[in-house]
Amino acid sequence: MIPFKEAKAIVQKQLSQLDSELVQLKKASGRILAENVVASFPSPRFDNSAMDGFAVRANDTIGATKENPISLKMVSVSAAGMPSDVEISPGECIQCMTGAAIPKGADTIIMVEDSSGFSDDDTVQIMVESHRGKHIRRMGEEMNEDDILIKKGTRMTPSEIGTCATFGLGELTVFKRPKIAIFGTGNELVEPGFELKDGQIYNSNLFVFADLAAKVGAEVIMRNVIKDDKESLRAFLSEALETCDVIISSGGVSMGRFDYVRDVFMELGVTEHFWKVAQKPGKPLFFGTGNDTLIFGLPGNPVSSYIGFMEWVWPALESMMGKSESKPITGILAEPFPREKVKTRFLFGNAWIENNQLVCKPASKIGSHMLTSSLEANCILASEPGESVLQVGEKIRVNLLPWKGLKSGKVL
Ligand code: AMP
Ligand code: MG
Repeated sequence: MIPFKEAKAIVQKQLSQLDSELVQLKKASGRILAENVVASFPSPRFDNSAMDGFAVRANDTIGATKENPISLKMVSVSAAGMPSDVEISPGECIQCMTGAAIPKGADTIIMVEDSSGFSDDDTVQIMVESHRGKHIRRMGEEMNEDDILIKKGTRMTPSEIGTCATFGLGELTVFKRPKIAIFGTGNELVEPGFELKDGQIYNSNLFVFADLAAKVGAEVIMRNVIKDDKESLRAFLSEALETCDVIISSGGVSMGRFDYVRDVFMELGVTEHFWKVAQKPGKPLFFGTGNDTLIFGLPGNPVSSYIGFMEWVWPALESMMGKSESKPITGILAEPFPREKVKTRFLFGNAWIENNQLVCKPASKIGSHMLTSSLEANCILASEPGESVLQVGEKIRVNLLPWKGLKSGKVL
């Protein structure tokens, strides 16, 4: 059994970034950028109107009120996508819509609400004074040409996708998605939707793995539940070693008589980097490499395998995909946490903001077979080994589950 940090360092050494590929912007959701996205033009690209109204010269509006409007000659129309090339002279104005280029000679916009309105008349009454620049979106006020918009290593979310579209990028260079194989082992496992016989249970782990894989951005290309027999394991694993970047298993790596997963890996020539980490739950964690494939053998208990995926596999997949590392977050305990003497201890938990601090507490169900302890949780809490229970007010690492929101206010 090796300490958690030592095991982490071993995994770290085996990680390498995948190649990059070009994808269409339409298909870039969730992908990780393999290069900086740079503004190819300033934003806004040209001075334009923030309002539907009239482009005028501010000097012409001096003294204008509702009671004493000023009359201006209407000489043209500038619409979004159809700029006017007419230049206005003193006493003139141009109808100018939101997003339309500011015509030459104009230096402010009067909102249509502050005028006699749009019409085909030659004149318009302006009912307010305006100053230079009002309601004008200035060229480059948001971004300059060549500014870095989004850094390499960022995951594409609606904000990044929208920004890329704004700057006209139809394709992006992103890191390839890791190809992964997920498998469960156990003669007792039955797929949800089928009937259970005596002693059987449903396979839940692969459903958790598949959803986690989708969320992190990996591509599951092999998935199966395998009986506890060496032949079936060998067939699945030898194919997975040929085709996948990462193999993730659940079950079959403990001390049971029918726990063959590790044996079969060894038979197939996999290099074992460690087996058994000082952590709870999930001590019998296997990590190996073979054929440039990383192998994580997680124990079968549902909480152990879920937490094991989040603590070990998720960061490894992110690193392979070039995602910039997120800094560890710490929270203050609102309830005691059952720290272990020699093991890193994980529990699902809740974290929320209270008095401007991140406060957290472990789930009340702590058994590693109790998957429902994850239902209400929005994080995994992780304590280093230590002598006694961690007390209220002490700090603990909080691994926020990215798809769950941070709660505000006390969680009861
Ligand atoms: P093992 O690591 O194979 O000894 O399994 C430990 C516990 O996890 C046993 O109670 C198994 O029945 C259970 N288990 C193993 N695989 C799964 C799975 N895919 N889904 C749900 N429970 C599982
Ligand atoms: Mg088993």
